[in-house]
Amino acid sequence: MSNRYIARAFSTMQKFLKENVVRDKTLAKETTMRVGGPAAIFAIADSLEHLKIVIDTAKDWGLPLFVIGKGSNLLVSDSGFPGVVLRLGQDFMQRKIDKNKIQAGAAVSLPSLVQEAARHSLAGLSFAVGIPGSLGGALATNAGAHESCIGDIVKNVIIYTRSCELKVLTGDDLRFEYRKGNFEDSDIVVEATLNLKPGDSNEIKREMEEFFAERKESQPLQFPSAGCVFKNPKVGVSAGKLIAESGCKGMRMGNAEVSAKHANFIVNCGHATASDIYNLLRAVQKRVFELHGVILEPEIRFLGEFDDVLLPAPDRL
Ligand SMILES: Cc1cc2nc3c(=O)[nH]c(=O)nc-3n(C[C@H](O)[C@H](O)[C@H](O)COP(=O)(O)OP(=O)(O)OC[C@H]3O[C@@H](n4cnc5c(N)ncnc54)[C@H](O)[C@@H]3O)c2cc1C
Repeated sequence: MSNRYIARAFSTMQKFLKENVVRDKTLAKETTMRVGGPAAIFAIADSLEHLKIVIDTAKDWGLPLFVIGKGSNLLVSDSGFPGVVLRLGQDFMQRKIDKNKIQAGAAVSLPSLVQEAARHSLAGLSFAVGIPGSLGGALATNAGAHESCIGDIVKNVIIYTRSCELKVLTGDDLRFEYRKGNFEDSDIVVEATLNLKPGDSNEIKREMEEFFAERKESQPLQFPSAGCVFKNPKVGVSAGKLIAESGCKGMRMGNAEVSAKHANFIVNCGHATASDIYNLLRAVQKRVFELHGVILEPEIRFLGEFDDVLLPAPDRL
């Protein structure tokens, strides 16, 4: 990507977004894995107007654009991203509770929504306790746990398309799949309304405590990670079990390690690189395939350049 184009795009965005746009921002601090090189341009859009400016400017200069939430499901390559990384800001952090519904901007953190629902004695979101990330990221990945997922409780989603149109998706437009919202990759989720149910606040708190205790017991939360790295395959056995049975627990590449506590977590033991993590992921995938004939599909998303040597996802075979 030409540096001149990047400089021009940056200067246009800076006129409007001021200090909310920076060059060469290291993304490691923006992800829970704590790895990744710089984004050529990193922009925070505080309003729809700013969102339009970022989208149009990236388009005008032919720069790729990627929306980041809290970076908790993301592996960014060591060389970073030669385009624009966009995060939603202020106007997308509003939330409103109306009877059993929570209407919230996509930049609102999912953990804060879980707490807010509990404070208002609204049931239906406890499954998400301990899932880091933003509402937008949760919808894009259809985040879930304890046999529930965010898609189950969505009333509507407002997206902003790359042609700068706002669209409300509801009813049949909303077909969530396992760890996938049904938006185009290019659509930006800006807001959603969740349908909850009146509940007993003590019961909700008890359930949240139980779910969180389970996480603490089974997940290596003291290390940087991106949660489960592989999706559970359709064969009815969890990815973690297949990985553990393949003898991968404790396997290491550089400073990345397959957690001994939860085999489907790859943790950054300190100063791991994205390549360490990617190579480890690849080695695990290969070993599970050789021993069990199952191709594990990554659950985490990738940003930037990686050698394309992961085994193909099962539906691409
Ligand atoms: C310790 C730990 C535990 C976890 N446990 C779980 C779990 O139990 N269940 C689970 O499902 N996940 C889990 N995760 C993964 C992660 O927290 C979720 O996938 C989360 O919903 C991602 O949200 P995010 O804002 O961090 O998204 P990011 O990681 O920033 O982005 C993920 C994807 O969403 C897209 N995206 C983000 N915001 C938007 C937007 N506004 N519009 C359109 N696309 C957008 C990005 O482009 C990217 O493709 C865990 C992660 C960690 C670190």
